[in-house]
Amino acid sequence: MAINIKRPNGTEDVIPKNVHKWHTIEKITRDIAESFGFGEIRVPTFENTDLFLRSVGETTDVVQKEMYTVMAKESKFTLRPEGTAGVIRAMLQNGLLNEALPQRVYYILSCFRHERPQAGRLREFHQFGVEMAGSQYPSADAEVIMLAKTILDRLGLNKIELHINSIGCPTCRANYHAALKNYFSVRKDELCDTCRDRLEKNPMRILDCKSPICQEIGKDAPLIIDYLCEECSDHFEKLKKYLSNFGIEYTVDPKIVRGLDYYTKTVFEFVTTEIGAQGTVCGGGRYDGLIEQLGGQHTPALGFGMGLERLLLLMEKQNCDYLTPKKCDIYFAVMGEAALEKAMQLSKSLREYGYYAEYDMMGRGLKSQMKYANKIGAVFSVVIGDNEIADGKAKVKHMESGEETLLDLDDRFTAVFEEIYFNRIMEALDDETKDSPLFSFTGEEQ
Ligand code: ATP
Ligand code: MG
Repeated sequence: MAINIKRPNGTEDVIPKNVHKWHTIEKITRDIAESFGFGEIRVPTFENTDLFLRSVGETTDVVQKEMYTVMAKESKFTLRPEGTAGVIRAMLQNGLLNEALPQRVYYILSCFRHERPQAGRLREFHQFGVEMAGSQYPSADAEVIMLAKTILDRLGLNKIELHINSIGCPTCRANYHAALKNYFSVRKDELCDTCRDRLEKNPMRILDCKSPICQEIGKDAPLIIDYLCEECSDHFEKLKKYLSNFGIEYTVDPKIVRGLDYYTKTVFEFVTTEIGAQGTVCGGGRYDGLIEQLGGQHTPALGFGMGLERLLLLMEKQNCDYLTPKKCDIYFAVMGEAALEKAMQLSKSLREYGYYAEYDMMGRGLKSQMKYANKIGAVFSVVIGDNEIADGKAKVKHMESGEETLLDLDDRFTAVFEEIYFNRIMEALDDETKDSPLFSFTGEEQ
C-alpha cells in the first residue's frame, strides 16, 4: 500500500521557486535591525512549559488553548508560541543584561500555536521580532516603533496603519481592574466560561476574547487610558510627540490590550485591511515587569513580533519587489566524454568565483540540452564537442541576444567570461533598476 502522509494542517512548505520571497524579507529585516544596533540571537525551538506559563500568562488564549506541549520522560516542554519569553530567558541565562545597556536583539524564528488554520493564521508560523532591554524612556518605544515602520516601508508596503495605546503599569491597573470587574459583573452570566474565570483573575483579558458575545458585552467597558497614572500618562504623551517628530502617523486605539499578559504602558499594532480578517502584521509593546518575573533584576524592556506569512500575503497583494532568484549563469552543452570532463573542470573554476554553472548530467542529446538551457533561463551557453576540444576554443553564447564570443577552454576561461558577463549586465541594466533599493542586494548576490 502506498503511504499517504501529508503535511499537518496549518503548516506550509516553501519550495525553491518561492524561497526568494522569504530571502527578501529576511535580508531586509536583518539589514535594518542591524542599522538600529540590534544583533541576532538564536534560541531553542522548545522551552520548559513553565517559562510560558509565567510570562505569556495563565489566563491568555495562547496558554489556555494554543500551546503544543509534550511530556518527555519527567519533563514538560512546549514548542514556543512566541519569541519574547525564550529570548528574554536566553538574555538572562547568558548574562547579556550585565553588559552595556540597552541590550538589543532580533530574531527570525518559527512559532507554534494550535489555532484554526485559515489565510494568515497557521499552526506553525514565522516571526521577525526584536527585544530591547534596559531603557524605561519613551525614546526607546519610539525607536522600536520606528524600526518596525522602517522595515514595512523598505519592503514597499503601504496601507498599513499604526495603532497605539497605553495599558498602564500595576499602579494604574489596580483601579482599572476594579472598574472592569464592576462593569462585567452585571452581565457575568452571559460571559463565556473562560471569561467568567478571567473576571476574577484578570478582567482585562475579557477585552481580548474572540467570542462575539463577550466582545458585544465589552463594547462600552471602561477604557484603561482614562485610568493612567501621571507617569504612564506622561510616557504616552512623550511617545506620541516623538512619533510625530519622526513623521510617523498613528491612531490611538484605546481598545488594544494585546493577547499576552506581560505588557505594560505602550502597546501597538500595525494593521491592514488588505489581507482579510487576519490584518495585524506586527504587534508589540513594553513589558517592564517581565524580566523580574523571570528571575532577573527589574529591567524595563520592550519589543515586537511581525508575522512573516502575513507580510508575504500583503507583499503579493501589493505587487512588491523581491530579490531576484539566482539564475544559471552558464550552461555547458556537451557531446562526448572529453567535452563533459572539460565542462566539469571549467564549472569548478567558475563556481569558485561565485558563478552558477551547470552541465548535462542526464545524457541528453544536443537539441534537448539546449531546450533545457532555455527552460532554466541560462544567461549564457557553450557547446563543447570533439571539434572544440581539438581547437581548445568554444563559443560562449549570450542566450537572449544570440551574440557569441570565442573563448579559450583553459585557465583563462573564467576571467574572460567574467569580463563578458560584466559588460552584459551593465548594458542590460536600465536606470530604473540601478536606482532600486534592491539593486545593491542583487549585485551582492551575483
Ligand atoms: P492575532 O490577534 O492575529 O491572533 P496575536 O495577538 O495572537 O495575533 P502576537 O502574539 O502579538 O499575535 O504575535 C505577533 C504577530 O505574529 C501577529 O501580529 C501576527 O502577525 C503573527 N501571528 C500571530 N499568530 C499567528 C498565526 N497563528 N499565524 C500566522 N501569524 C500569526
Ligand atoms: Mg492570537
